[in-house]
Amino acid sequence: MKENRIYNFNAGPAALPLSVLEEVKESFLNFAGSGMSITEISHRSKLFDEVINDAVLRTKRLLKLDDRYQVLFLQGGASLQFTMIPMNLLPDGKTADYVDTGTWSSKAIKEAQILGKNIKVVASSKDKNYSYIPGNVKFNSDAVYVHITSNNTIKGTQWASFPDTKGIPLVADMSSDIMSRTFDPKPFGLIYAGAQKNIGPAGVCMVIIREDLLKMVPENLPSMLKYTTFSSSNSLYNTPPCFSIYVIQLVLKWLEETIGGLDKIEEINKEKARLLYETFDSGNFYKGTAEKGSRSLMNVTFRLPNEELEGKFIQEATKNGFGGLKGHRSVGGCRASIYNATTIDAIRALIGFMKEFEKKNG
Ligand SMILES: *Cc1c(COP(=O)(O)O)cnc(C)c1O
Repeated sequence: MKENRIYNFNAGPAALPLSVLEEVKESFLNFAGSGMSITEISHRSKLFDEVINDAVLRTKRLLKLDDRYQVLFLQGGASLQFTMIPMNLLPDGKTADYVDTGTWSSKAIKEAQILGKNIKVVASSKDKNYSYIPGNVKFNSDAVYVHITSNNTIKGTQWASFPDTKGIPLVADMSSDIMSRTFDPKPFGLIYAGAQKNIGPAGVCMVIIREDLLKMVPENLPSMLKYTTFSSSNSLYNTPPCFSIYVIQLVLKWLEETIGGLDKIEEINKEKARLLYETFDSGNFYKGTAEKGSRSLMNVTFRLPNEELEGKFIQEATKNGFGGLKGHRSVGGCRASIYNATTIDAIRALIGFMKEFEKKNG
């Protein structure tokens, strides 16, 4: 079975640690001695309580969150957060700042505008096809929050360090880099991440929210669209995506107990990205599309000398057991998504293939 698995560079849903998949398989018919699958037990059972509580606890430990933060598991993907954030946190008559770094932040901006909210786009990298992260951004002192996308999955850029908002709560879409590195959580009022990039299967979005932001949630919102509904019920207001939360728990356990925490995974992720970018920079066949200071450690976007070669590259890569290397349909080119579960061995194998391909076609 293991021998049939490919080197998976998918952008999302994406590779999961093999040991986690094996644990899921092992326990699938008889979860924790219950005689039932995790997909068959009640979300109100003690067994599931243990799963969700452990996932919350591990998230808090890994990210070093203090008691002011709550960890929620919501449905509707990261995309519903584009709506829920302004709906819950931005009262009419107030404003919020947004930084536009490409597809996903553009969508967040669009949804806030659909609600008729007053938001300001304070910086954008659209002028250079979103190939960089804007520097020295000035924020409006009356902004209720500042929204950023920490890693731009499609454009291959990432905030290397977070902007100083002078005390205005940061709200960040970390869908494609949550749990990939260490950072100081204190400036953040809210962090959200669709699970399917770096922490689990599709179907659930992790939302981390600080208590001062919870206090801003208006009473008169529909229950399912209100953060307080989920913060007051341990994410169990209605039936949550139990299976996805269970796999997240296992991924976080793997991160803590097998890898050794975020310091360790950051070190590994930096080395993986360095090896790939070095392959581009040491020749002129492969060219990275992101500016050097803005390069993502998670989504490595690149081009070959022409589109014909790119097509051939992806085709031959697939034949050789390397999957998911096609760039997003909106931008073309190539992309290797190298999330936490992608091993250094997979990177080395990919680089070997790339060098071989260059020799034959360069
Ligand atoms: C994938 C992705 C999304 C969309 O996530 P869904 O869960 O499909 O809604 C949003 N933001 C970023 C940064 C992403 O990578």
